[in-house]
Order: sequence, then structure tokens, then C-alpha cells
Amino acid sequence: MIPVQGYAGHKVAVLGLGRSGLATARALVAGGATPIVWDDGQPARDFAETEGFTVTDLTKQGALEGVAALITSPGIPHLYPAPHPAIAAAWAAGVPVDNDIGLFFRSFATQDWDNFERTPQVVAITGSNGKSTTSALIHHILTEAGRPAQLAGNIGRGVLDIDPAHDGEVIVLELSSYQTDLARALTPDVAVFTNLSPDHLDRHAGAGGYFAAKRRLFAEGGPDRAVIGVDEPEGGYLANQLSEGTGDDRVIRVSSGQKLTGSGWNVFARKGFLAEWRKGRQVGAIDLRDIAGLPGAHNHQNACAAYAACRTLGLGPKQIEAALHSFGGLPHRSQRIAEQGGVAYVNDSKATNVDSAAKALQAFRNIRWICGGLEKEGGLDGLLPHTGSVVKAYVIGREAAAFAVQLRGVEAEVCTDMATAVTRAVAEAQDGDTVLLAPAAASFDQYDSFEKRGDDFIAQVRVALGE
Ligand code: ADP
Repeated sequence: MIPVQGYAGHKVAVLGLGRSGLATARALVAGGATPIVWDDGQPARDFAETEGFTVTDLTKQGALEGVAALITSPGIPHLYPAPHPAIAAAWAAGVPVDNDIGLFFRSFATQDWDNFERTPQVVAITGSNGKSTTSALIHHILTEAGRPAQLAGNIGRGVLDIDPAHDGEVIVLELSSYQTDLARALTPDVAVFTNLSPDHLDRHAGAGGYFAAKRRLFAEGGPDRAVIGVDEPEGGYLANQLSEGTGDDRVIRVSSGQKLTGSGWNVFARKGFLAEWRKGRQVGAIDLRDIAGLPGAHNHQNACAAYAACRTLGLGPKQIEAALHSFGGLPHRSQRIAEQGGVAYVNDSKATNVDSAAKALQAFRNIRWICGGLEKEGGLDGLLPHTGSVVKAYVIGREAAAFAVQLRGVEAEVCTDMATAVTRAVAEAQDGDTVLLAPAAASFDQYDSFEKRGDDFIAQVRVALGE
């Protein structure tokens, strides 16, 4: 645990008692503060009480009196569509609102570091898609290279739950836009921006707010090195804004598909090959084509970002290449779960938005595509240019018929539930096909989470294949 610094002897309010909220409350106690906690759900409050925390309704008049800060959780709207009443009350009372990420950055360094040979570092990863994969990959490469490393944030452990850093340790931190939007301290050593596509627009009042939230990771503290995916205009803009001239190698530009020709530091993948260029010379090359854990151009983008981040931490190209080969991939992301009769079965349940599903559709051929669920704002038109490899769609979700209608030009069968979709796809699949779950929608109309949806897909495939 990272004891929170700066609030000893003070009362601090904690809003939201999920994994990160509880870890925050514990870390506040460890730092000598007195948390008062609240969650809108009774079970979470009951659980906090069993741990001995003081539960106080933070929305009640006067509840924030004498409170030094309000620490909120990423799942709780802090501005759009409307601020949670406790957050609005904190604004009115002049109580600073922060989150666990802000507390982490102000508490991470300790006096022990004076005796360390190598100062611990933080690599923070944000972007619309590929954050978890890139974070896990960086962690894997560092571990394989024998560097102490911990994975935290949206993936791995809650950020205040990690162990205090060892000499030379690297903390790999996955950060969502909800987290970067609010943190009052954001000072990573290396910051990574994977890419940008529309998502969570309701929480940021549109694409501009969403980008602004992610951009804070680069603007607030100013990382020593920034690894920026430049395949969208926002990445190009950000990289340009952060660099001081053509040869400024504090910014590493990353692309999947483009040959980057600037004279700075560039890492890009084309036709399955990664290339690193620095000051106009090629200094590294890796064949990514047969790396099983990283299929498709989108994963090659992740490989480039992870490669670049690890290069800034002093690792060599060959060390990184060896570790890429042993990366197993993450569950629910382009996860190959079975193969029978020449048909591959791939679980990409994490493809909850249009861009990630489009990337999955580009990574495979002869696709029997299981899609649908709770549609996100913005419609499905962004998928249509990428359905060329789809043999047929099998649509799930409560609104499956309405979803199917939007897949213009694709043969689509309304299946509604996973069992039907898998049974139909298995029955019709032929040698060389891929049965792919890439929903392009959230799971909450039928499941508690994308993990549950992916697990159901795996279970139904096992049943259908008689395994
Ligand atoms: P995040 O943590 O940003 O949601 P994940 O690594 O969990 O990212 O991947 C989320 C979804 O996006 C998965 O469906 C995955 O296959 C897909 N994906 C992974 N990397 C990329 C990328 N670089 N660009 C687009 N989609 C990606």
C-alpha cells in the first residue's frame, strides 16, 4: 500500500466504495488521515462499515464541514452528464476534489528513495483503445528484462494498493479519461497516448472534452518522455505541441500503417514489421508477423508504443523483441480460445466501441461475426468500411434487430442471445473461417461486464464444439 501523504490529522471524504475507493480509504488511514466514506449503494456502505470506516452521507447539508478534500471514484460522473450531488456540494463548499491517481502522484516518492541507486519511475498509458494491452505488454517486457515492475490503475492493482517502490522499479499505470480528467497531480516520467476514437462521450460532453481529459496527462506535469500515437489528428496535434523542434527526441511518434519520416524519434509498424528511426537513421527492426499474442495492425500499434516506452527506459531492441514473442495477450482481447475443423474461435469481448471492433474485423479473414449489445452514442456507420471480411453477422443483444438493420451490406441474422449466436455460427462455419466475438457495443443490456460476456462466449463455444 502507498500511504497517502499530505493529509495527516485531516478529515478526507471518499465517494464511491468500489475497489479503488476502499483502497483509497485504507491508504488515507495509513497516512494518518481520517476518512469519511459514502457510496450510493447500500451493500458497498455495509461492507465499508464492516471494515470499520465511518459512513457519512456526503450529500447531506454540512457533511463536508471540516473536510480537507473529496476523493471520488472513476465510475461517478463528476461533471457530465451531471455532477454527483456530493461533488457539486464540494464545489459549493470550496473543498478540493481529487482522485486516487492524484493522491498517488503526491504520495509515491518517499525518503527511502534517497538511498536508491536508481529512482523509481512511472509510465502512464492513456488513449481510447489498447491501453490495457500496451500496459500489460510494457510490464511483461520489463519483467522479462529483469527490471522490477508493477502494473496498476485500470488494470492490475488499484494504484494506492501497490507496494512501495523498490530501487529502480517501474510502475506501469493504465489511466482512463475519467482518471486523467480529475487527478490534481499527474507527473509520470513517461506518458503514452495510444490513439483516439469516440467513446464515453456522455461523460465528457463530446469528443473535445474526451480528448481534453486525456491530454491532461501530458499538459499538467509534463512527462520527461511522451510516446504519442499519431494516426489520428489529435495525436499529431499533441505530438507537435509537446515538441520544441524537428529533432526533439522527448517525443516519440508512433504509427501503425504510416512510415514516419520526421528527423526526431519514430517507431512505426508497416506490413507486419516494426521499425525504429532516430535522427534520420534506422536503429531497430522487428518482424511482428508471427507473434501469436499480438495479432493485427492494432496490436502492432500497441507493440510500437510498448517498444518505444521501453526504449526510453533504457532497454535494447533485442531484449524487447524476445519479450514480445513470449507475450500471451490478455483475455477478451483478440483471444484465440479454440480451433476445430479449420475454424478459429476468437474472443474480443472488450471490443465495446466501434473503433476496437473495426480493428478486430481488419485483423481476421472469413469472419463469422458475433456482434451487438448496448449501443454507444455515435452509431455504427464507422464499422461499415471494415466489414469486407465478414461472411455473416450473428447479432446479439436486447435490441438485436435494430442493431442488425444498421449493418448495411452485411448478411445479418438476429440471434439475440449468445447461445443461439454461437450455435448458428458453429453450424455454418467452414474451413478457414474465424468465429469472432467483437460486439462494437457495451455488454450491460445482457451482462454485468464485458468479462462475463466473453466468458459466456467461451462457455457456449465449448458446448457447441462438444469439448
Ligand atoms: P483499453 O484498455 O484501452 O480498453 P484494451 O487493450 O483492453 O484497451 O483493448 C480494448 C479493445 O480494443 C479490444 O477489443 C482490443 O482488441 C482492441 N484494441 C487493442 N489495441 C487496440 C488499438 N491499438 N487500436 C484499436 N483497438 C485496439
